[in-house]
Amino acid sequence: MLNPWLFAQDSLDNLIPVRGFCISAPRTDHLDSFIQFIDNELAPRKVNTLVLRVDWNYQYQSFPELQDSSALSESEVKQIVKTCRRHNIELIPQINLLGHQSWHSTTASLLRHFPEFNETPHIEMPEEYKWPNEDGLYCLSYCPLHPKVHDVVFAVVDEIMTVFEASIFHAGMDEVFYIGDDKCPRCRGKDKAELFAGEVRLIRDHLAQNGWEMWMWGDRLIDGATTGMGMWEASMNNTYRAIDMIPKDVVICDWHYERPDPTAVYFAMKGFRVITCPYRKPDVAVEQMNNMITWRRNSTAQMSERFRGMMQTVWSDPEVYLDQFYGKRPPRNQDENSVACFKKLFEAMNIETIE
Ligand SMILES: [Zn+2]
Repeated sequence: MLNPWLFAQDSLDNLIPVRGFCISAPRTDHLDSFIQFIDNELAPRKVNTLVLRVDWNYQYQSFPELQDSSALSESEVKQIVKTCRRHNIELIPQINLLGHQSWHSTTASLLRHFPEFNETPHIEMPEEYKWPNEDGLYCLSYCPLHPKVHDVVFAVVDEIMTVFEASIFHAGMDEVFYIGDDKCPRCRGKDKAELFAGEVRLIRDHLAQNGWEMWMWGDRLIDGATTGMGMWEASMNNTYRAIDMIPKDVVICDWHYERPDPTAVYFAMKGFRVITCPYRKPDVAVEQMNNMITWRRNSTAQMSERFRGMMQTVWSDPEVYLDQFYGKRPPRNQDENSVACFKKLFEAMNIETIE
């Protein structure tokens, strides 16, 4: 006789193969509570994929100067690896490449230590950051054509993949506003779609040498003007044609936080596997999940398999998130926040499979 629980597992894997959760890696002093969170909250909800945004929160050996203060040690990472393995959770590290090399008025580690990689060295970092600003500064980017940048970037990627014992790397690459700058001696005048695609291809090819798979955010591949999706969740800086220039085995994490936009269909029809990523609106997330299931059911075998599932994204500090999760501090919006969204999405997911 079939064990009903196993049967539910089986059909859940068919309905929503990827059940993901994406958050920043915890700081050293919050590691224990984070591991308990995996044990007590992620695993029982049948999360099977954990994207951890590590960036410079690791004690890199190849370029030790790049690590943040109080970065995770190798043995601390191994505790996360072991916990995820125990629950059959695929652990995917992320270092955000190309864009997101600064936040507000703080330059992140890579460009602080290697200012020569900066795509826009003429942009002065403001003392007090405001958006919008005259420079169009959201985050700094590295120059994808700098001859030395990949020596550094790929060394830390290889190191993080090895210590995480991972087979998938998430390269980030969202919200790249500075690319092909008119003042960059290497990039000026070049097609921004080609520059973006070139960087995707280089990272993908590097990972493929070790049999590793590449995931990335999808926003730069969507035409922001034609779709009306604008400059954040889609591209207004001419990178979107890169969708036809990058290898099809890159997995697209397609984030939409306001509406259940049907863009996963676009990626799937272009030949990409795609995961839909909500943030803080529970009803939108559930609708996105239902769309995923519908598309998997209603498509050809070729298309159906490309609709991989859902990944909850969290953009607060993991410490703050856990506090909100356990009611120790209130979320900014009582109804729409990434705790409520995660709980409702995974509740719906687990009910869906019982029907
Ligand atoms: Zn450049």
